[in-house]
Amino acid sequence: MKKIAILGSTGSIGTQTLQIARENKDIEVVALAAGRNTKLMEQQIREFHPQLVCMWEEEAGKILRNAVKDTDTKVVTGMEGLIEIATMPQAEILVTAIVGMIGIRPTIAAIESKKDIALANKETLVTAGHIIMPLAKKMGVSILPVDSEHSAIFQSLQGQDRGGLEKILLTASGGPFRGKKREELEHMTVEDALKHPNWSMGRKITIDSASLVNKGLEVMEAKWLFDVELSQIQVVIQPQSIIHSMVQYRDGAVIAQLGIPDMKLPIQYALYYPERRPMKEERIDFFKLGQITFEEPDSDTFEGLKLAYRAAETGGSMPTVFNAANERAVALFLEKKIRFLQIYELIEAAMEHHHMIENPTVEQILAAEQESYEFIENRI
Ligand code: NDP
Repeated sequence: MKKIAILGSTGSIGTQTLQIARENKDIEVVALAAGRNTKLMEQQIREFHPQLVCMWEEEAGKILRNAVKDTDTKVVTGMEGLIEIATMPQAEILVTAIVGMIGIRPTIAAIESKKDIALANKETLVTAGHIIMPLAKKMGVSILPVDSEHSAIFQSLQGQDRGGLEKILLTASGGPFRGKKREELEHMTVEDALKHPNWSMGRKITIDSASLVNKGLEVMEAKWLFDVELSQIQVVIQPQSIIHSMVQYRDGAVIAQLGIPDMKLPIQYALYYPERRPMKEERIDFFKLGQITFEEPDSDTFEGLKLAYRAAETGGSMPTVFNAANERAVALFLEKKIRFLQIYELIEAAMEHHHMIENPTVEQILAAEQESYEFIENRI
């Protein structure tokens, strides 16, 4: 039995991870965590019988404790609860499918407890990659990418000479606004931004895909995961989302991973790596598909990518500010308090306001996050 714990089990990645557990009979779900969705968490407890469950919110914890008092599941809350899950001896793999920097402390705690990490929560690497990657190396644990692009890169690196890697070609669908000009973006609504052409994901990451901020976060995630220079990562728009990413080697060979857009494959690959388990999902029909096309990203219009490269080049605490400012700006956009293009304006202003700290500690990262939140609060 493979014993897993999932942070963010009620979300898009979390529920798909549980679907894999449902389909493969040799996964034991030992712990689950979510923010406040007690209804779905109760269903998950009754189906998967985890030993431990954490709700971020105290009140949600109380409600859930009462609802499942007839079961053997212990319900805990808050950061202490997340850390208890991350360090519990019964779990072998921690799936980090939580949104935002809240994942940093539990991820570090899990690595210190020698758990392998199936990492979806890219914000942890973007902001604390300089702490997490060396720690994982020191503790001898694997950071297995769940993000489809990073899983594709990881798959394209298997059995290859790492020294021969020339560059990573990180593919992007271009999102729902691909091809639009700045004047058109001015009028885009939340409903327009949530209509992703290929992927069904959580709300925050769907907006990030429309702004290309997500691709910027993925560039930084790739830099840490695969230990490459920023100059070795090139974003390529591939609108059909069939090529999930590619690796170019120094002899000119390009190795890619292709598949239909479905997160279950990368999640399952991370859970069972290096084994390839069967999947019943649809296959690519190349005759029906007809063509796969490529474009250069328009980073003058979609400034999310340009700002991300700027944050990554500055380094230190700047990616934290990029990420935190975006997180708050996206929340405001989803609440219809700001326009789409103001997401870029707020990120840029927060970055200009910040004095970069080199090699920030976890405390300094969290302080930079708070500073960015406050900056945006005061500006709006
Ligand atoms: P969702 O918004 O769908 O789900 C987020 C999950 O995190 C929910 O279970 C939510 O609980 C939980 N959560 C939120 N805040 C807390 C908290 N403070 N404590 C505990 N749990 C919390 O997000 P996604 O699944 O889309 O994304 C998760 C991560 O994976 C993100 O980092 C994203 O960038 C990354 N990712 C997602 C992909 C996708 O296809 N969705 C693809 C690649 C990466 P509740 O429901 O109770 O609010």
